Amino acid sequence: QAEHEGSTPLMFYTPALNADAQSRLALESALRMALETNRLELHYQPRIDLRTGRVIGAEALARWRHPETLEYIPPERFIRISEESGLIHPLGQWVLNEACKQNRRWQEAGLPRIPVAVNISPLQLQQRGLPDQISEVLARTGLEAEDLEIELTETTVMESPEEAAVALHLLKSLGVRLAIDDFGTGYSSLAYLNRFPVDLLKIDRSFISNLESDPSAATIASSVIALAHRMGLRVVAEGVENLAQLHFLHRQDCDEIQGYYFSPALPPQAFAELLRSARTLTVPVTSG
Ligand code: C2E
Ligand code: MG
Ligand code: MG
Ligand code: MG
Repeated sequence: QAEHEGSTPLMFYTPALNADAQSRLALESALRMALETNRLELHYQPRIDLRTGRVIGAEALARWRHPETLEYIPPERFIRISEESGLIHPLGQWVLNEACKQNRRWQEAGLPRIPVAVNISPLQLQQRGLPDQISEVLARTGLEAEDLEIELTETTVMESPEEAAVALHLLKSLGVRLAIDDFGTGYSSLAYLNRFPVDLLKIDRSFISNLESDPSAATIASSVIALAHRMGLRVVAEGVENLAQLHFLHRQDCDEIQGYYFSPALPPQAFAELLRSARTLTVPVTSG
């Protein structure tokens, strides 16, 4: 392009970032820093067998305190930021490694042996290297594959079910357990569900919290339990907060529960104490 003497220089107008985008960017760099300086935490929420009342598993949940306010930022928020920025890959790797390392430590300390469940983002599932990454982590930490469970949401696997089926078979061949998380919120075709080599379904918390107020939530919850059992899968109810919900799930023969009624996610030390205490859940007898 010809330059004309005296012509007006081309001006670039840079709109100021709006406050939202700015705080998002600030969070993103703080999150990157947190990953580099090992400031993320993992907390563990127990899963309880409804027949024995015993803790039979733990879900690892990422926790991050803002470096300045020291308040915990909701995982939904920082996981979304990490997915949008690509940080989900180092973050996911850190979570996997940390959860496996922690579970191995508990085993070495002589605590009851339980699987640890790790949430996997759709972006991680799409990565061809995921199975290798998982087997490397298992080898490095010395954890047996059966002591690791991978949680994928229903939306993640149904986004592209053909590819997900292939990916899930590769993961399954490692020997890890597979769970479908937040079940009931997406649209699963039964035909696909049948082709996913999964071990358990986790009924989404929204159905459990509406059990008492919404008859259709109760219908969906009991249908999912029956369906899972017909397919030979175990079923976990998420977000159990009260006795009424517990009674309902017990009557419906749900296998496991997870929720504040028994315990929220705990820092590793507190979770170890819970395991050591062998505290159990008792389902009080209903009067009616
Ligand atoms: P999720 O995998 O479905 O995890 C269950 C969420 O329900 C957790 O929220 C847990 O604290 C919460 N919860 C459990 N019991 C109750 C209850 O009785 N009442 C209520 N109100 N809530 C309960 P949290 O820890 O805030 O995590 C939210 C979501 O963030 C998780 O949902 C998961 O999708 C995602 N997430 C958390 N950690 C990770 C991670 O390490 N990697 C990935 N990819 N996602 C993660
Ligand atoms: Mg989960
Ligand atoms: Mg869930
Ligand atoms: Mg969820």
